[in-house]
Amino acid sequence: MTQPVANDFIRDLIRRDNEQGTYAGRVQTRFPPEPNGYLHIGHAKAIAVSFGIAEDFDGLCNVRLDDTNPDTEETEFVDSIVADIEWLGYHPAALLHASDYFGQLYAWAERLVEEGLAYVDDQDTETISAQRGGFGKPGVDSPYRTRSAAENLDLLRRMKAGEFADGEKVLRAKIDMQHENMALRDPVMYRIRHSHHFRTGDEWRIYPTYDWAHGQSDAIEGVTHSLCTLEFDTHRPLYDWYLEHLPLPGDQPRQIEFARLELTHTVTSKRRLAKLVADGTVEGWDDPRMPTLRGLRRRGYPAAAIRAFCTEVGTTRTNSRQNIEALESYVRRELNATAQRRMAVLHPLRLVIDNWPTDASGAPVVEYFEVANNPENPADGTRQVAFSGELWIEADDFAEVPPPKFFRLTVGREVRLRGAYLVTATSVEKDADGAVTAVHATYDPATRGGDAPDGRKVKSTMHWVSAPHAIDITVALYERLFTAAVPGEATGEPLDDLNPGSRTVVTGHAESAVGDTAPGQVLQFERLGYYAADPTVPGLFHRTVGLRDEWAAIQKRQG
Ligand code: ATP
Ligand code: MG
Repeated sequence: MTQPVANDFIRDLIRRDNEQGTYAGRVQTRFPPEPNGYLHIGHAKAIAVSFGIAEDFDGLCNVRLDDTNPDTEETEFVDSIVADIEWLGYHPAALLHASDYFGQLYAWAERLVEEGLAYVDDQDTETISAQRGGFGKPGVDSPYRTRSAAENLDLLRRMKAGEFADGEKVLRAKIDMQHENMALRDPVMYRIRHSHHFRTGDEWRIYPTYDWAHGQSDAIEGVTHSLCTLEFDTHRPLYDWYLEHLPLPGDQPRQIEFARLELTHTVTSKRRLAKLVADGTVEGWDDPRMPTLRGLRRRGYPAAAIRAFCTEVGTTRTNSRQNIEALESYVRRELNATAQRRMAVLHPLRLVIDNWPTDASGAPVVEYFEVANNPENPADGTRQVAFSGELWIEADDFAEVPPPKFFRLTVGREVRLRGAYLVTATSVEKDADGAVTAVHATYDPATRGGDAPDGRKVKSTMHWVSAPHAIDITVALYERLFTAAVPGEATGEPLDDLNPGSRTVVTGHAESAVGDTAPGQVLQFERLGYYAADPTVPGLFHRTVGLRDEWAAIQKRQG
């Protein structure tokens, strides 16, 4: 895949490293997800950054599962993460696991203990955390901080052997309990967990923390630039401290932080997304309203659009929230080029052409019109669309009493049925409540193809579906999952801003070719928007995005 070589502060740093020969010109990155959930649009940004940079510098990027917490991690998540990365269009040089290095990490921990740089603490988590202090609040040394190296080594080995219960002891680095950076106030390296690990089984009774595992795993793999999000900024001195105190197999990697990607009208925290699934607010992790890659994919978002969005919004050190309309604009641009056009009516109203001819046997004539599948791409060819005297039109394309500036169909007015004929409405049928149930019209046989020989103009062109030839489709229409641009801004709780009307399901009618749509394929329903065929349920479509470019309007407003 070729992408424009973006310019940003990370690429600038790497160019400087290369000029100075820091890593002998080598560039190696990694994407390190924890296999405790599904990837979301924020992860797509991190993936685009690490893979994109490796590509631009002819380097390589691995996926390393950060599987250091056996209680929350599962093979199912590993599989979905790997599949989602491939779907996005990135190919890891290797699939690695932090658990591959449990043995080496442990050996290094013993080494730090022997050097008096780590100790076993018998206090519980709450006490340790209280003693850590805070800004302007001094730390308190643990009473176990002065244990001898020999005693610490013995205790660490017994922790590893499973002699102690969960939470009974931890191993801590011995750095500085008064350090201005809290991360350096004797951080925990190992905690005891008698849990089954999905890869290492029951081999380990102690598990490394993120901080103890991360930089060391980077170093073992030969990572040069370890790219992560800004919240790890304050951990960088600790990342460096560990590496500086260990006999590394190669160069010392450097951590570089960039801003997280957030989107308006949605949340990306795994914990909050998990709650939406657990509460039944959405139907699952792949619900088309979810910002997960599975959800966006089912919604019909092309991988290429997500990649382009993540790349082109840029990489900075300032946290900001991107407009969801901007992402939609990339989706629309991609689909405009690739999606085949079809006609479908989602809020159907019957249109009866009273002067439509019958053939010799008395049956209504059927005509076929040849229509381009995608005017943007002639290679997509054409198809035949049936037309008859019984049609479905969109209910809001007709008004019995037209409001000002309503140029579509009303009794006495002529409009164009796209690509077919000019028709004039003559009367309506109503039910007992006075609601219009059908519109009667006449057509002008001289306007075949949609133009009048006398050159007379009509103000509007409408889509239609021939009723006897139509198939039924079920269409899920989506609105924003959260009403507020910044969910939770007012109350602190994002779930307070959930949009109760984020999904409406309607039954519509579509031209027969819609029946041949491949699972997952996205179509443009003319005048309505883009709609993705569900990957598993035949006849079910999800509204991907409408046709109107709201992003352009927002940019115009902002000058
Ligand atoms: P969450 O907070 O939702 O649980 P996480 O950061 O814990 O997400 P990980 O699996 O640990 O999820 O993340 C893997 C990588 O993806 C990390 O390097 C992390 O920095 C990055 N990442 C996660 N969320 C975002 C985001 N919103 N924008 C950019 N990068 C992200
Ligand atoms: Mg995490």
